[in-house]
Amino acid sequence: MLPSLPLRVYKFGGASVKDAAAIRNLHRILRRQSANQPLLVVVSAMGKTTNALEHLFQLAYEGQCYAQPLEALRQFHVGVAEELLPEAPRNAAGQVECGALYTLLQELGDRLGNVTKGDYDRQYDQIVSYGELLATCIVAAATGAQWLDVRPLIRTDHTWREGRVDWPTTERNLRDQVLPMLPHGPVLTQGFLGGTSSGQTTTLGREGSDYTAAILAYCLGGESVTIWKDVAGLLNADPKIFPNTVRYPEISYQETIEMAYYGASVIHPKTIKPLAVRGIPLFVKSFVDPEAEGTKIHDCKHAPLVPAYIRKTDQCLISFESKDLTFISEENLEVIFGALAQVRLKINLMQNSAISFSVCTDWHEYRVRKLLEQLREQFTIYYNTGLELYTIKNYTPEAIGELTHGRELLLEQRTRQTFQFVSRAPAA
Ligand code: ASP
Ligand code: MG
Repeated sequence: MLPSLPLRVYKFGGASVKDAAAIRNLHRILRRQSANQPLLVVVSAMGKTTNALEHLFQLAYEGQCYAQPLEALRQFHVGVAEELLPEAPRNAAGQVECGALYTLLQELGDRLGNVTKGDYDRQYDQIVSYGELLATCIVAAATGAQWLDVRPLIRTDHTWREGRVDWPTTERNLRDQVLPMLPHGPVLTQGFLGGTSSGQTTTLGREGSDYTAAILAYCLGGESVTIWKDVAGLLNADPKIFPNTVRYPEISYQETIEMAYYGASVIHPKTIKPLAVRGIPLFVKSFVDPEAEGTKIHDCKHAPLVPAYIRKTDQCLISFESKDLTFISEENLEVIFGALAQVRLKINLMQNSAISFSVCTDWHEYRVRKLLEQLREQFTIYYNTGLELYTIKNYTPEAIGELTHGRELLLEQRTRQTFQFVSRAPAA
């Protein structure tokens, strides 16, 4: 039995498990821990696998041929397993043994074959969830960690693609199942996934693995969560988009939650609340340089921060005009909000004028079409796609000047701390 040190939760995203070399690096990070450190490791799908699965599902849903991308996905995972486990025993088919890898690949193929029209979001979850299942199979085999299926433990409702957590059941399940495993070495499980009471898989929303790490730490009394990333910590902007980024060594839960809400892709927005409620610090660290300081997110006071720049792409600006020239009123808004909620379009920004109301949302063609169908009778509706939503948090006049220079702003809004605008994406 290992002495009872407090539990640490580590989360590794897609980039940190994107190939065999990345998984070896992950293994090195796990080995830096002392042997008696209870560790729960959350892993996302490898690289861009979730996007690939979304594409596969789309093809299957539309009745198109998906054999080739499915084979590519299969070969990719098997290839990584072969590379990581050259010495491992072989099965009857001559394949390297790697947990349930081949069973899962087989299941995925079967499920794709059974996709039918209708019930889109539910079927999406049953397919897209395979990214995490496959990844954890390989990473567990490569690191010797104990593989855990998170789906029967994180209980959600039936809100497909954004399962809402049943906290008491989840806490009970996790305590019963996971605590006894921890003394036997690292436990490794899937991010992003949950399950309903009837045993169907749900997902927690794209990029939801961070949220999984927070759920686990919250329910199991974790001492800390560490998100291992390909950047040095929480930065004031995505270095792939903006030059001259700076790292925040320390930042409050509150600031972080707002940045995540505006779309900073570094942390899933739902991650912070469970951690803040139980005072669990969140570290963001670089898997390339694990010794480096990174960022500590916790309950702290700090001096005003340098401006943070956030870009959300693939946005859609929808404007509603009342047909009879009545003002946009509470009654009108109620109808519009009701319809938005029903088709599950989330508002990223909104603004109203006398007879028109505009919302900026992520572009989901199918949902926007459903919305138009519902509201067409009452409103004249215009929409533009291919837009970007920029947010500057803790803005300065210089920061605004620099970012808006030379752009046509379709909508802009300023509050005390935050400046936001919608503009067209540059032509590709
Ligand atoms: N694999 C999922 C996604 O790409 C979840 C995650 O990476 O956090 O959205
Ligand atoms: Mg990710």
